[in-house]
Amino acid sequence: MSGGSEEVPFARPWLAGGEAEAVAEVLASGWLTQGPRVEEFERRFAERVGAAEAVATTSCTTALHLALHALGVGPGDEVVVPSLSFIATANAVWQCGARPAFADIDPRTYNLDPRAAAAAVGPRTKAIVPVHQIGLPADMDAFAGLAERFGVAIVEDAACAIGARHRGRPIGSLGFPACFSFHPRKVVTCGEGGMIATSDPALAERLRRLRQHSMDRSALDRHAARRVVIEGYPERGFNYRMTDLQAAVGLRQLEALDFILAERRRLAHRYNEALAGVPGVELPHDPAYAERTWQSYPLRVGPDAPLGARELMDALLAEGIRTRPGVMAIHLEDAYAEEGLRLPHTEAAAREVVLLPLFPGLKDDEQDRVTGAVRRLLAGVPAGAVRSAGP
Ligand SMILES: *Cc1c(COP(=O)(O)O)cnc(C)c1O
Repeated sequence: MSGGSEEVPFARPWLAGGEAEAVAEVLASGWLTQGPRVEEFERRFAERVGAAEAVATTSCTTALHLALHALGVGPGDEVVVPSLSFIATANAVWQCGARPAFADIDPRTYNLDPRAAAAAVGPRTKAIVPVHQIGLPADMDAFAGLAERFGVAIVEDAACAIGARHRGRPIGSLGFPACFSFHPRKVVTCGEGGMIATSDPALAERLRRLRQHSMDRSALDRHAARRVVIEGYPERGFNYRMTDLQAAVGLRQLEALDFILAERRRLAHRYNEALAGVPGVELPHDPAYAERTWQSYPLRVGPDAPLGARELMDALLAEGIRTRPGVMAIHLEDAYAEEGLRLPHTEAAAREVVLLPLFPGLKDDEQDRVTGAVRRLLAGVPAGAVRSAGP
């Protein structure tokens, strides 16, 4: 904190109202997991994203794992993923026993570059996972072309993309399994949770079985039956069941989605206006084919700016403004380090991007403090003058 003013937080979940009551109702009902609220959440979610079916899971990570597993990704296989993503994208591939093959991004959208993805396809490649990074849809026409050309599966990592559109069509309705997250950092939340949207009812059926140990009758089916039903287990599976407590919260959150998206868009446009013309920075690219969710506001602090991205973050924190580094580069982490792998666009973006506070509930005067500080810290300070200043 500084100057007696309150801290500006980086993110905060938006409560639609009624979440606590909805949870209390579930508790009172006695049906706490994989029950009627989960079924309702799946139905409403599928409607919202224009998918035939939606299958709830415990997180986007488990959604990705389940989808890749169901599409046959296993030991010895490779899956092409962007390195510029949250590490969950790669961990889901590893959880299948497969190897993530990292490819570079388009430096303007921060999304997996279809040409780089094509170059990373090899004889063992089973799937490609385009990520709609911070809610900006990837170039899905190009990825659909790659699926045809190479005969590989596409699974969308749509963790941050609920409500986003690609050429007018909602993410989740493009014909590929799309995996969403309900972590508190995402657009809508139920604490933890995930969803797989799909246009393929047979795949949805299989995902529903796999998420509860491949049990061939659901608890809802058994409950509805007039006689005792004994379930069977035709194959091995997982426990990725969502609780009805989470689904009840998720249902309330879905009702607030339009407001949340509009508010995020409004705040992003305010940033665009207030930060236009600041020397050395690049504002987020907003391509015409896409409607993004503005899950975050990525400000790129280029090499010509008087401060580096990390220095800017430190200086903002000293004024009580919390930011986060941009999306990580997975191949630079020890967990996935690969000898000799260089992804120049990914490495530059991971180094140069700062995420600014953006969430419904961020007040205009708080946002003005952020933009005022960024403008002051980056404008007209001769290179080196601040860099060399000690604490
Ligand atoms: C947050 C995130 C995930 C993981 O979501 P969880 O629900 O926390 O498992 C995966 N991919 C991307 C791109 C994300 O941003």
